[in-house]
Amino acid sequence: MFKQPSNLKPETLNPDPILGIDLGTTNSLVGVVDSGFPILLADENGSRSTPSAVCIAEDGTITVGAPALRQRALHPTRTITSVKRLIGRRAGEAGWAPPYSLNELNTTPVEVSAEILKHLKAVAERALEQSVSKAVITVPAYFNDAQRTATKRAGELADLEVVRILSEPTAAALAYGLDKLSEHQKVAVYDLGGGTFDVSVLEMRDGVFQVLSTAGDTQLGGDDLDRSLAQFIAERLNLPSHDIRVLEGAEVVKKRLSTDDTTSFHGLDITRAELEKIARPWIERTRMHCLRALSDAGVKAEELDEVILVGGSTRMPLVRDYVREIFGREPNTSQNPDEAIALGATIQAGILSGSLRQVLLLDVTPLSLGIETFGGLMNIIIPRNTTIPAKAGEMFTNAVANQDSMLIRILQGERELAKDNWELGRIEVPFPAGPKGSARVGVQFSLDANGILHVLARDTATNQDITLEIRGTAIDVEDERVEQMIAESVDFAFEDMNERIWTEAMLKAEELLPAVDAALAQLGDVISQDESQNVRDQAAQVKKLLESVNHDAKALKSATQQLDDATQSLAVMLIDRAMEESLARRGLV
Ligand code: AMP
Repeated sequence: MFKQPSNLKPETLNPDPILGIDLGTTNSLVGVVDSGFPILLADENGSRSTPSAVCIAEDGTITVGAPALRQRALHPTRTITSVKRLIGRRAGEAGWAPPYSLNELNTTPVEVSAEILKHLKAVAERALEQSVSKAVITVPAYFNDAQRTATKRAGELADLEVVRILSEPTAAALAYGLDKLSEHQKVAVYDLGGGTFDVSVLEMRDGVFQVLSTAGDTQLGGDDLDRSLAQFIAERLNLPSHDIRVLEGAEVVKKRLSTDDTTSFHGLDITRAELEKIARPWIERTRMHCLRALSDAGVKAEELDEVILVGGSTRMPLVRDYVREIFGREPNTSQNPDEAIALGATIQAGILSGSLRQVLLLDVTPLSLGIETFGGLMNIIIPRNTTIPAKAGEMFTNAVANQDSMLIRILQGERELAKDNWELGRIEVPFPAGPKGSARVGVQFSLDANGILHVLARDTATNQDITLEIRGTAIDVEDERVEQMIAESVDFAFEDMNERIWTEAMLKAEELLPAVDAALAQLGDVISQDESQNVRDQAAQVKKLLESVNHDAKALKSATQQLDDATQSLAVMLIDRAMEESLARRGLV
């Protein structure tokens, strides 16, 4: 959802925070609200997602998460996965036979879930550097009382007071900020994960979401597709399809084909079309559940205000096509589908602990927020019309050698040049002097629900933070001034763009010209007269354009590009020569 460093450490924390926990079938996540922002917490490896796996060794030692999963190949009967299926079987659904026996391991689904929760609690306590004792935990909408109580009991065993059990689709709706839209809205949540499929229809009533209907299949998810794809691959490569490497490879291939049209596995080319042929019947199975959920809720597809996607498998373009077709509308994909439920649980936890205001107004940034970068250009960090709260950041470096600090001017406005925008504040970030491009300064803007802009600049070498708080001005701008700024940005769009292109080309030219001179000096004896004259002429043309008063951005850009192309061959020659010299020095030629 937000661009955020995975190791972000909350600075101002509620003394009694409540965790938000997505206790999933395949993966579990934990979050907390910090300074008005829901954030998901990472473990010591930087991972925000913990496999819901528990391994009980013969001597009783328990491992949880990725290390437990790694034990699975060695100890299949001692590694417990998908324990949520044992707590939560849908009524009337065929049972699922796990490859392990909890009886033999002398444990129960509740105790195993408690181990996962203990682990998540420890991840949170480590990240927050304080102990926590309360949590909101999500469960599928179809969980009955006994299943909810069992989940609560697991929390207690993990020393967590479960202040609320929250339905997963409700959590997802909260993550999407749908509670802020209007009182009378209806939404569908399509959740296709690794092992299960759920679809729910929700309605907002009296400020809270109520689940009108839910349908799904606890034996339908991305894992099934992995198996079918593994078979397809295994047949072509003459490998056993149950080979774990083929299965893992199939998942990688599947994920890649969500963005690429084609990929390859051990020399076998696989196209998205081939994957989709395998996936189609499997995704088709979700249709009847969607129609059922709509009919049970007494809601027509066209009455829905939003259709939101949850679960990693909804990253597949074909799944999105199906959803679009089934519900007759574009699904909302603005949130990270793997994290939406945990994020929603965290938001609910924040509301309950008082760290978040219950009713967040749907406020947006009236104008873009950014900083000035080299050459006097505006670099937007949070674009205009972003819903708050919002958080985003970028990394910057020093443009000249031996610089030992960076002045960050915080700007607001829509113009391309910094000078035409409004300055909201400035901070200076010191860093150790070094060559050009050696400093790494991260700048993060976070705009909280109250419209306060927190700017954080961090030199990654020293980890020193400098912060600035800008009250009010980021959101509260008179309508007239906003209109004027936008009108000007339209009026001057052409000139502004010209200046941006000019400035970018100028910066590039200024970097290129001395490099060209130096290369020519070194290679004078190697290249032909004609060639060197040609490069000199092009450099002269760039210089002439740079000096001209009427900034001809297009001409400068193309001349710089040409000079760049011409000098590419010089660069190659320089490298060749350096190699030869080095080999000669070592007596190799
Ligand atoms: P979840 O249970 O929500 O964590 O979803 C996990 C499932 O999503 C697994 O089957 C993953 O293989 C699948 N998944 C994750 N990312 C992608 C992707 N980019 N494309 C297709 N499937 C994905």
